[in-house]
Amino acid sequence: MSDNSSPREQLDLSPDEMRELGYRVVDRLVDHLETLPDQSAGRQARRKEMEEQFDEPLPTEGEDPIEVLEQATEEILSYAMRPNHPRFFGFIPSPSNFVSVMADALTSGFNPFLGMWMEAAGPSQIELTTIDWLRELCGLPDKAGGLFTSGGSAANLTALCAAREVMLAPDQVRDAVIYFSDQTHSSIDRALRILGFQPDQIRRLPSDDHFRLDLEALQTAISDDRAAGRHPFCVVANPGTTNTGAVDPLAQIADLCEREELWMHADGAYGTAAVLCEEGRAKLDGIGRAHSLSFDPHKWLFQPFEIGCVLTRNRRWLRDTFRVLPEYLEDIDMDEEEVNFADHGLQLTRNFRALKLWMSLKVFGASAFADAVQHGFDMARTAEQIIRDRPDWSLVTPAQMGILTFRYEPEDLPESSIESLNHQLVSAIFEDSWALTSSTKLRGSTVLRFCPINPRTTEDDIRETIDHFGKLARRCHRELDAASAGQQA
Ligand SMILES: *Cc1c(COP(=O)(O)O)cnc(C)c1O
Repeated sequence: MSDNSSPREQLDLSPDEMRELGYRVVDRLVDHLETLPDQSAGRQARRKEMEEQFDEPLPTEGEDPIEVLEQATEEILSYAMRPNHPRFFGFIPSPSNFVSVMADALTSGFNPFLGMWMEAAGPSQIELTTIDWLRELCGLPDKAGGLFTSGGSAANLTALCAAREVMLAPDQVRDAVIYFSDQTHSSIDRALRILGFQPDQIRRLPSDDHFRLDLEALQTAISDDRAAGRHPFCVVANPGTTNTGAVDPLAQIADLCEREELWMHADGAYGTAAVLCEEGRAKLDGIGRAHSLSFDPHKWLFQPFEIGCVLTRNRRWLRDTFRVLPEYLEDIDMDEEEVNFADHGLQLTRNFRALKLWMSLKVFGASAFADAVQHGFDMARTAEQIIRDRPDWSLVTPAQMGILTFRYEPEDLPESSIESLNHQLVSAIFEDSWALTSSTKLRGSTVLRFCPINPRTTEDDIRETIDHFGKLARRCHRELDAASAGQQA
């Protein structure tokens, strides 16, 4: 297939082969994205089925790259949910954009090393610039800074590690206490476990009627802990919970943290992107007063996985927390002017995540992003109205920050049957996968959770999806009736 110097042995393709493979990859991507609305929103399979299809011994000899590409796209990648599909409303969608996809290819091909400035001056500056755009959007002060991470989990871990370093002397760590609502994302629990905090140092406070952090409960818990000789040091606030989109009272939490001299961490992995549009900015008033902030561009900022971001209100805090200089990097250590991102977080080797965000913001402009974020607010309200208009559905939480929750509740059905009916419905939705949404539990009840933040989602998509879910729900209802009739017989 190529010249006779057996380039495969050097892991190379000839220039012609590279072009052919590359052009085909682009063709496959464009075919996929162009036909996305005509596809289902995902395809499920069990482990056994996948193992039978794909498990094979390590290939010792090479195969034709085009054939392998076809296998990857046609067979493997098709067995997955499609988080960028206009009828994917589950979990948190990732409706990315093509410019960023191409940027990821460039990043991978040029492969700059974003740990040390000396190794990648241009890319490091673009990360600084892009981070500074986000800092400004969030209303953090000039001296704030941050870096891109794999996602919100890593951003939360980085931020809480800085909070511990900055706020606590070594002998205070064991008595330190952190506070957040019961709606807070599990990645906070995981970060605290990794950081060595014990369960008795964590106050997971019952949220209020609107699933927000209850300020009174927070104040009481802090006072009680102080009275008991403990050391309150941090509050985690939610600028949009993953469950319902509820926004904690950020400005009041900031006031309280100021008064009590506590670190305020805002886990805005999902919600922070809302600062791009006016409606979101108003909802997130006070977010710029946080000491640290997580932000996931791979969610509501339309980037492909993985790109998260952590910001701290003083960029030195990250450096003070993470900088360790081994001998073999002394040559390329620089003064503070030039930022070595490896000194600011968990990773030494880092890829150029900033490029996709930078390129897509350059190509589309922030106003297109603002409109796209606003569309999520609008679509959630549209969905809420449709649910309100349908007799068999009942709204559980209204559209907030692009998320709403609801249940199928046909009249004259007891609560226990409604619970199992909605449970069945979620399984039916996954199995069918024409359109997708996921469930969550609120106050012990299973509810459907709908997050319509894809800018390509139309009102028709929402209406057709709810109609479709209605059909699946009626089928589940009939099956449930048949099962209980069978039991009685
Ligand atoms: C998604 C999410 C996370 C975790 O982020 P990953 O990017 O999945 O690691 C943390 N907090 C909130 C509020 C989230 O929505």
